[in-house]
Amino acid sequence: MYWEEDIKRELAYLDEIFQKRHLVTTEFAEQPWLTVNGHKMLNLASNNYLGYAGDKGLKKAMSDAVMTYGIGAAASRLIVGNHSLYEKAEKALVNWKKAEAGLIINSGYNANLGIISALVPRNGFIFSDKLNHASIIDGALLSRAKLQRYRHNDMNHLENLLKKVPFESRKLIVTDTVFSMDGDFAKLKELVKLKEQYNALLMVDEAHASGVYGKNGEGYAHFLDLQDKIDIQMGTFSKALGSFGAYVTGKQWLIDYFKNRMRGFIYSTALPPAILGAITAAIEKVQQDTERRALLQQHALFFRKALTYEGFNTCKSQSQIIPILTGENKRTMQFAERLQKEGIAAIAVRPPTVPENKARIRFTVTADHTREDLDWAIKRISLIGKEMSVIQ
Ligand code: PMP
Repeated sequence: MYWEEDIKRELAYLDEIFQKRHLVTTEFAEQPWLTVNGHKMLNLASNNYLGYAGDKGLKKAMSDAVMTYGIGAAASRLIVGNHSLYEKAEKALVNWKKAEAGLIINSGYNANLGIISALVPRNGFIFSDKLNHASIIDGALLSRAKLQRYRHNDMNHLENLLKKVPFESRKLIVTDTVFSMDGDFAKLKELVKLKEQYNALLMVDEAHASGVYGKNGEGYAHFLDLQDKIDIQMGTFSKALGSFGAYVTGKQWLIDYFKNRMRGFIYSTALPPAILGAITAAIEKVQQDTERRALLQQHALFFRKALTYEGFNTCKSQSQIIPILTGENKRTMQFAERLQKEGIAAIAVRPPTVPENKARIRFTVTADHTREDLDWAIKRISLIGKEMSVIQ
């Protein structure tokens, strides 16, 4: 059977180059200390930036929704799955984001796939930062428009690409606001200028910024007061907001269009009531949580500074996502294994997620960590770094 042989050969190859993925059983990942295969470890790998995934109030909102509305939505939203909790959640969403209209979507991956593939026609153009999330690339491929990937945060490269396409053609510029692997920010001011100059729409992915940046946690666009200049803001409820699902906000005509053309919205079952209960509660809570946001920033700054001081290359991280560059795959995998032995859970990020020879260990800190947790981790990370000659 050639299928089986081919696929097994490919798996063996992935194993050889340290790219084969394995699932491990993890529990308590919503907490600062989790267990992996039963072993307690410091959790420096979650996106639960504000600790909402374990929040008591949100748990109650979820269970109240289950008891009132049941387990599942029973159909897609355009059939009979559009229960009243959606109206409540979307009202909370547009109030929070101060947007004209908004839509809740089943996951961040689905949102990017759906928004981009619905919006950009086959004869259109998509300009995407090279470090954008995979779901953006997949959405662009699905649209069958011409995809142009510009060098990370390189505005000159983007402008050169924009210049080459007809002014009247449909163009979408799309970027993460906080990049998920490097933890740096997009150059939103410059992107707004370019989109105005070259007659394009601008879409931002606020997955790692929602809840974290902005006075009320609205995201990085609000932090820079650029929200009204950005056509499409998407973000997730699966990271700082603790549960699951995603949103898109923008002008009413755009949201109406998505309801009619986004296939993942039309053809997939609506979210379970429990998730919508958690989403509404999280949107309300996050606007009050200035202190936890500040605490998260303090932790990120402390952790990043300490690792830099020890001699690690933290790429251009400016956020709660803090990578250390380890180079080649084998060494990165060994580093991750040593971390595990020392009781630290962090992920090794390898190509194709990052470019060749740019493999890294990616740490994320949360508001739930204590300074002692972080101190404890830094000592161990440095020890391993020296042992493996990543630092001196
Ligand atoms: N966009 C970015 C930038 C992400 O990091 C992620 C999650 N890894 C997603 C989209 C997808 O979101 P979700 O996990 O809710 O599908």
